[in-house]
Amino acid sequence: MKKIGIIGAMELEVEALKSKMTIERTVEKASMEFQEGTLNGTAVVIVRSGIGKVNAALCTQILCDVFAVTHIINTGVAGSLKNEIDIGDIVVSTDALHHDVDVRVFGYPLGEVPQVGCLAFPAEEHLVQLAVSSCKEVNPDIRAYQGRIVSGDQFISDKKVKEHIIENFQGFCVEMEGASIAHAAYLNHVPFVVIRAISDKADESAETAYPVFEKAAAAHSAALVEHMLPLI
Ligand code: SAH
Repeated sequence: MKKIGIIGAMELEVEALKSKMTIERTVEKASMEFQEGTLNGTAVVIVRSGIGKVNAALCTQILCDVFAVTHIINTGVAGSLKNEIDIGDIVVSTDALHHDVDVRVFGYPLGEVPQVGCLAFPAEEHLVQLAVSSCKEVNPDIRAYQGRIVSGDQFISDKKVKEHIIENFQGFCVEMEGASIAHAAYLNHVPFVVIRAISDKADESAETAYPVFEKAAAAHSAALVEHMLPLI
């Protein structure tokens, strides 16, 4: 039977989903609270991982080991890396990579973790298509883009750093967890998708834009996740 693990880095990214689910049990592990139950008629485990790649990877592994989830969805907010992708729009991952990994000295392309065997971790096509079609139904005024999501342990709010990331990785948006969730899901052979709503433009305007838009952006992404659950 399918069981969907839903990860948000921050409480505001999962609070709406948690408030609507029927909770059957709560398990605390690695200082994270995993809530298992049903949402929109679907078995789910919803959790706030905490911010950054280590928290997100740990969380993903626990979802696989303790809860045996069959699919993983990461919902949240991100900084846009494309002019046409505006605050409030949605990016659905085609794949995800680490923009802060650099082992070029031993011949690996920038971003590739040695000996894992791939630079970018591919999202599952069915989940990607469901997320895009759900967005059209739930948020008809919001554009949904499909593209690469890049992650690192940095909040990007500097035009030069943003340009370096765009040039090297061709990402659509940048955040701090997606690639590590993708990486852990890949190692566990669990299909995943990352869904992010844009909270800022990942440049000097981000420091002021992010706090204003994070809540509404997080809600867009969560509404989409709720809608797609029974269709998986
Ligand atoms: N407000 C939080 C910190 C948020 S860090 C606090 O004070 O504790 C930013 C979060 O939003 C991360 O989870 C990251 O995934 C995402 N994010 C949004 N915009 C981003 C950007 N420009 N660069 C990196 N991560 C971003």
